[in-house]
Amino acid sequence: MKEMKFETKVIHVGGEPDPTTGAIMPPIFQTSTYVQSSPGEHKGYEYTRSHNPTRTRLQECLASLENAKHCFVTASGLSASSLIMHMLPKGSRILCGDDVYGGTYRLFSKVFSEFHDYKFVDTTDLNKLENKIKEFKPSLIWIETPTNPLLKISDVRAISTLAKANGALTVVDNTFMSPYFQNPLDLGADIVLHSMTKFINGHSDVVGGALMFNSDEIKEKIFFYQNAIGPSQSPFDSWLVLRGIKTLAIRMKAHEQNALKIAHFLENHPKIEKVLYPGLPTHPQHKIAVEQMKGFGGMITFFLRGGISESTQFLKSLKLFALAESLGGVESLVDHPAIMTHASIPKNVREDLGIFDNLIRLSVGIEDSLDLINDLENALAKI
Ligand SMILES: *Cc1c(COP(=O)(O)O)cnc(C)c1O
Repeated sequence: MKEMKFETKVIHVGGEPDPTTGAIMPPIFQTSTYVQSSPGEHKGYEYTRSHNPTRTRLQECLASLENAKHCFVTASGLSASSLIMHMLPKGSRILCGDDVYGGTYRLFSKVFSEFHDYKFVDTTDLNKLENKIKEFKPSLIWIETPTNPLLKISDVRAISTLAKANGALTVVDNTFMSPYFQNPLDLGADIVLHSMTKFINGHSDVVGGALMFNSDEIKEKIFFYQNAIGPSQSPFDSWLVLRGIKTLAIRMKAHEQNALKIAHFLENHPKIEKVLYPGLPTHPQHKIAVEQMKGFGGMITFFLRGGISESTQFLKSLKLFALAESLGGVESLVDHPAIMTHASIPKNVREDLGIFDNLIRLSVGIEDSLDLINDLENALAKI
């Protein structure tokens, strides 16, 4: 059979009917242990921290979506990030993008900085990055693209090539694009990370993470640390993701259609200073976005004219966009990064990066675009 298309894989890989009953939905194997026929003789499952059949099905599906040989599913995006850090020998040097998810910044700068050395750099500037690589000699380069919340785009192919030439692994946090719009392994990256909490599950009812890669050596290490430390996802949560992921392709298309309309609306609104959306030709890395992504996703960042009081008035006046952290669900959310998601980044670092009090981040849902635009229009009229 020919290689299946994404829309088919997302429904059928890992979704085979249950062989014992024919049930079309995979069962939730809600079990902690498995009976052995004689000591050490079992069907590949011994204990759910190490393996669980529901999780296996989800891992098969996700691996196929990222064109990866291996996938591990974890209890959260951050526990997936932690497994990568545990896998590195003590004292490793990690070069990390300077505009990563706030929790990633906290994990590296406050937790793993006890074991490793971190430097944060702008990975959109390849010359600067190359100089830093030569000077710092990292064993791992961590990029998030597009970034959170500034939607900066890094050239995955160029960075992976640079990293390889200098003996470093490349990790890409692909949460914002989902496997539908971007496949970093195909561009040369070594490991892809997702917070499944966001677009992959898509229904704001699960926290989870995933790692995908091709290397057998990395697989041995990640399996060892997952089993030794224990951040495995529960069978029930894996099952919820298996349910949510079936509509990933049509959800991503709908997120993008709405986001494009909203980005155009905002760009033409007199109370908006600037809009950042990778799909707009005005985005500083629009060209790379077109080259390495198959679409532009559902995240929009913009700057209001004004400061904290205008932002607060706007946020309180929205009715459909819910004021909440997180992103990637079917419902539209709005976030104030300086006060909410990125509060763990010191104010001076935040402002150096460009995260000011008039910066607003939208996670555009799949509701009707006119209703969403009306909501934004009404709230903007209140300021
Ligand atoms: C949410 C998020 C994470 C962390 O994932 P959790 O599931 O919340 O632990 C990491 N990276 C990005 C880009 C995220 O949006």
